[in-house]
Amino acid sequence: MEIQQQTLKHSVKFSGIGLHSGKKITGILHPAPEDSGILFQIKNRDSNSTAIPARFRNIGGLSYNTGLQSNGVSVLTVEHLLSALNGLQIDNAIVELNNGEVPVMDGSAAPFVYLLSEAGIVQQKLPRRVMRLVSNLRVERDGAWIEAEPSDSDRLEIEYSIDFNHPVIGKMQCSYVNDPVVYCRAIAPARTFGFLKEVEYLRSKGLIKGASLKNAVVLDDQRIISGSLRFPDEFVRHKILDFWGDIVLLGRPLIAKIKAHRAGHKLHAMLVEQLLKTPGILEPALEKTPHRIFNLVPKLSCSS
Ligand SMILES: [Zn+2]
Repeated sequence: MEIQQQTLKHSVKFSGIGLHSGKKITGILHPAPEDSGILFQIKNRDSNSTAIPARFRNIGGLSYNTGLQSNGVSVLTVEHLLSALNGLQIDNAIVELNNGEVPVMDGSAAPFVYLLSEAGIVQQKLPRRVMRLVSNLRVERDGAWIEAEPSDSDRLEIEYSIDFNHPVIGKMQCSYVNDPVVYCRAIAPARTFGFLKEVEYLRSKGLIKGASLKNAVVLDDQRIISGSLRFPDEFVRHKILDFWGDIVLLGRPLIAKIKAHRAGHKLHAMLVEQLLKTPGILEPALEKTPHRIFNLVPKLSCSS
């Protein structure tokens, strides 16, 4: 059976602080028609608005966040909200903002999941169109890599591993198969993380003006200084969360098996770029209800 596109039932307001700009931001998530995708709408004081579709061609900065830009207007830190929309399989929505950054909230996607569930999700008339990967692809950079191969499960699945030279993090690995219930419970609450020793450097670059111990897991050289973790492997789960947001920039849901090692926003974007640039590597398809045997596959398995 074909699966229909989804949007929000109602508009819902939110507000918070921009992680990088430090500005107070208010926004509204709105329903959108079929095939419109995710659209950011930045309104200035005179209520003039600029629309920025969440598509690869509009990528702006990729330094410690994923930013988009169009017609000289930019929006920073879109990845956690895009991740929540993708995690809940919302195809079409308008994100109205009074400033060019999505609020960081608590550093995870859980507050956006809560907002989206408050707004409600409705099915639309047209079927969801996906992109199926038909041959292997690898991108790499500075010892980090992502490999993509065709999937037989009819879903996007990912195996992510990280390796940090830090006593709290070290090596961690987590596998996740697209499933909204598992996303809400096991991926969305994982917070972004950062290192105290990088704070001065990032501030000198005009970044993380809104960062605090309340919106990130913060580590010094030895330990976590921002309180307890939500999961023992919260770091690698957040990497999956970030990937789930960045992959939205492909424009349609991807059906593929991904392996990522020590990757980040730049490599996620390189993967999307190569997927779009490589002729014949993606095949358009309609999403089908998963085959029964798919339900036997574990949706999440982690080791650290
Ligand atoms: Zn993140």
